[in-house]
Amino acid sequence: MAQKRKILSAPVTINLELISSCNIKCRHCYNFWRENNDQNIIKLSKEKFDRFLEMAIDARVFHVVLSGGEPFLNFDVLEYGLKCLRENEISHSVNSNLMLANTDKIKRLRDAGMEHVLTSLNSFDPKTNDYINNQNGSFEKILRGIKIARAEGMRISVNMILSQSNKHHVYKTGKLISELGCQRLFGTRVVPNVNIDAPDQTPFKLDIDDAKLVLEQLVNVNKDFGIGIGTLVSYPLCILGDLQKFKALVGRGCPAQRGNRMSVNTDGTAHACVHEEKSYGNIFEIGIKGVFANMREWHDGSYLNKECLTCDYIEVCDSGCRMVAHSYYGRLDSSDNLMIGKEYIVKPYKMPIDNKMLEAVNNGERFIVPKRIRFRKESGFYVVNVRWANAFPIETEIAEFLINTQKNEKRFNLDDFGITKKEIMLRLFMKDVIEPVNNNFSCDSDSKLVGASIDPFTIPV
Ligand code: SF4
Ligand code: SF4
Repeated sequence: MAQKRKILSAPVTINLELISSCNIKCRHCYNFWRENNDQNIIKLSKEKFDRFLEMAIDARVFHVVLSGGEPFLNFDVLEYGLKCLRENEISHSVNSNLMLANTDKIKRLRDAGMEHVLTSLNSFDPKTNDYINNQNGSFEKILRGIKIARAEGMRISVNMILSQSNKHHVYKTGKLISELGCQRLFGTRVVPNVNIDAPDQTPFKLDIDDAKLVLEQLVNVNKDFGIGIGTLVSYPLCILGDLQKFKALVGRGCPAQRGNRMSVNTDGTAHACVHEEKSYGNIFEIGIKGVFANMREWHDGSYLNKECLTCDYIEVCDSGCRMVAHSYYGRLDSSDNLMIGKEYIVKPYKMPIDNKMLEAVNNGERFIVPKRIRFRKESGFYVVNVRWANAFPIETEIAEFLINTQKNEKRFNLDDFGITKKEIMLRLFMKDVIEPVNNNFSCDSDSKLVGASIDPFTIPV
């Protein structure tokens, strides 16, 4: 059932556009309609980046994604931004198609602090990829870029935007990128651009049968090639049906509705979702917190689909993608086109708590709060950040216990934490917020919630 939502003071993550133009013009892209002539290309300057950074530090933003357009087209600011973020302990990531990468550039960015790149490859098949990217030869250039970045030790995640022309290509693309040493494949459903009148009449759609086809392939990529899987735009949990089988795809929800994410253009105008055209103000005029406050309707549950209000998983699923709902049915609170109803959730998501762990906790196993865990005080609660963009709200009493423990480098067990709070402690362990002192005691990392953006306290018991 829908609960009253916790309203954050600032986003957890900001997607910051370093340049408005791109070296390719993908057919599905939310920027496809942008005119890329020289006059209207906007680059973020170092001075503007400094102003952004000051506000991000003040608002205690945890993570910044440097994106575009193509951020390599504003290379000096990309390098500068990475250095500044690292110096200020704000975690970061780069979104790039890597087509402009060379060894020198990758080394410079690595020295500036880049560890991870999210790149795009829409198919293992060069023809399909180049058709989607709207540029002949882009497949070869992306592969070259991935190889260069991997040779310099970069972690690479690959995103596929899935629509009619590549819906059968997920498995083979997963095979290809695993051979290249990439860590993860995102099988992201297309979000039809709001400028399209009837998305179901175009090739840039993914319907229910298509989604099922894609999901099966994604799971098989993980099983057969051992790389991680995910999606950058969530699939409603009811279309997954078996939440154990598709557990890697459970939990992303809608970062815009959770207040986890905000998207800022080069000119400072901001959106709740990167796919959204509406702006909520300019951060260089009213600040990050000011713009974020203008997005309140995204954060307070106003856009949840009413048909979902009785679903046990609404706090995990957020009733699917609101921009897809808007593209198909004209309203942000409409149904996601892949929503089939809560009765189709045939296998629940289970907290991966095993007996070995339970026994160790009952026997007084001691834990620490590692230094990487970050906290932000909110009005009446805290936000805890596990790593990167992965964060969730937590009660004040629990947060203050963890902060104090971390600050004083203390070790604690269940008695210290509170015998009545065993369930909470286990969930924190599964989410990698606390670590056992005894290194021999760890559970199967595959079954942990590490990396998944799931809020461990929203999973139905
Ligand atoms: S019924 Fe709604 S909230 Fe529940 S899983 Fe489906 S889309 Fe998500
Ligand atoms: S509306 Fe939510 S789920 Fe959809 S693309 Fe935007 S952030 Fe993602």
